[in-house]
Amino acid sequence: MHRRTSISLVALATLFLSPCATQAQTLMPDSQAVQQMRLDVYTLADDSMQGRETGTVGEQMASRYIVDRYKAIGLAPKGDSTSYLNAFHFAALPRTGPGNTLKIGRHTLKFGDDFYPLGYSANANVLTRVARCKYGILAPELDRNDFDGVEVKDHAAAMSISSPDGIHPHSKWIAHNDLRSRIDDAIKLGANAILFYNDDPEMANDPPRDLGMKLQPSSVPVVFLTKSGFAKLGLSGDPVAISTDIIREQKTGHNVVGYLGNGKPYTVVIGAHYDHLGFGGEGSLHRGEPAVHNGADDNASGVAVMLQLAADLQHMPDAKNNNYLFIAFSGEEKGLYGSNWWTKHPTLPIDSLNYMINMDMVGRLDSTNNLAINSIGTSPSWPGITKLKVGDLNIKTTEGGIGPSDHTSFYLQGVPAIHFFTGSEADYHKPTDDADKVNYPGMLRVARYIEAVITTLNDSTKLAFTKTASSDSTETPRFTVTLGVVPDYMYDGKGLRIDGVTEGRTAAEAGLKSGDIVIKMGDLDIPDMMGYMKALGMFRKGDTTQVTVLRDGKEMTAEVHFK
Ligand SMILES: [Zn+2]
Repeated sequence: MHRRTSISLVALATLFLSPCATQAQTLMPDSQAVQQMRLDVYTLADDSMQGRETGTVGEQMASRYIVDRYKAIGLAPKGDSTSYLNAFHFAALPRTGPGNTLKIGRHTLKFGDDFYPLGYSANANVLTRVARCKYGILAPELDRNDFDGVEVKDHAAAMSISSPDGIHPHSKWIAHNDLRSRIDDAIKLGANAILFYNDDPEMANDPPRDLGMKLQPSSVPVVFLTKSGFAKLGLSGDPVAISTDIIREQKTGHNVVGYLGNGKPYTVVIGAHYDHLGFGGEGSLHRGEPAVHNGADDNASGVAVMLQLAADLQHMPDAKNNNYLFIAFSGEEKGLYGSNWWTKHPTLPIDSLNYMINMDMVGRLDSTNNLAINSIGTSPSWPGITKLKVGDLNIKTTEGGIGPSDHTSFYLQGVPAIHFFTGSEADYHKPTDDADKVNYPGMLRVARYIEAVITTLNDSTKLAFTKTASSDSTETPRFTVTLGVVPDYMYDGKGLRIDGVTEGRTAAEAGLKSGDIVIKMGDLDIPDMMGYMKALGMFRKGDTTQVTVLRDGKEMTAEVHFK
């Protein structure tokens, strides 16, 4: 590997002293560039694009617009085979369908008011009878069996979501706090449906109504009875007719990939996600009726700057020592799906990538002139480029390679990757993130800065990659302990698949690796990401536990020590 030292003084001097005359003549005039970016943002952030949610018509319309722009600029297709589009598949968040019904005894329970299905539920129609089994806890090690003496086989197991001493980290029944273990035990005993209720609201919280977390469904209907529904539960032996209807769909998203070849060995990836939140839902900070989330800053702005760079780089003689790949990512808002997919199924060899530049939210440059460059710890070359003086931008930096946008996927594959960002604002992830609030001349200043970065790094050597040690920002701070891993949000099999481990943190020290699938922490099974988060909530700093992972299909155990 070529190792680049710091940026040469000659390169810096060139940048300061001679804004290349021939280059200035062939680039489009500033006023025209600003006008074009304004048009791109207004088009992508128009209500007709319906918030560009991945897997929807709005995403398709936006991708068509970007394809047309790539063609107009003269980029070659570099998606799937001869297409600009690069498809990926994902499991949409489950949602309730119209067919959820429940009768117990002579009561017809009302969907929503009296009961709702849980993410653990299969879709099925079952005629059965109530079997009341307390908390549904089967714990021979603690000499407790709530199923003892109850006819569970071919019955609907009715159980409280609490435990004999409530739900909290020091519960004696902690291994059974998770509903999954109780569901599994009841099914093993032959239950054909599960009815949960909360008879202890002081000590336990009702399970969430939305099916937002991707849970692995079990083999039987699983519903929760609200307070009013619980009042209608009746006795063991009462007849039950239950129908559950949860819509679980596979959907397809599309990255849009265009190539500017210069016949050189290495390629620079320039990326920006074009998807947004649609009409709201998960990720939205809007409360109230669904409304189109236009995502002008987040991230039509990044796409517009990317398109400007694509146009400019064809006319910049001192940027010809690399090829350029432009990727408009989709699925970013759902969890970096598009960049996750592309970096694992790249349309150019990963080891031919020189570095990656990500632009996410670059439309709100304000009077402070602050421009953030995140993840500069990913190559020893980055700190030098942050000293470039272009206009009067104040550069602010962070080190860590893992952040909340697509550069993270490249970092995890060993590609130096940085993220440009002009700051978050009050309209973030709200329907008010509109095109009239974007600073278009400011976007041109960001584009010019990035062009200076690209010309400064314009030689045939490849940037050195470094892993960063600093803390990652993807694990939510409400946990007192973390493993220091990046979960694979696209993975929807059993367990939690690790996509990256943070150096120097708990998982790395225990020898866990990316690709490992966590299936157990201590005594707690990890069926999915929800189970993982619950399990983490049970540990405290200083605790030591065994973590079981699947590595290449084989189970192995590692001792982790939470610091
Ligand atoms: Zn966003």
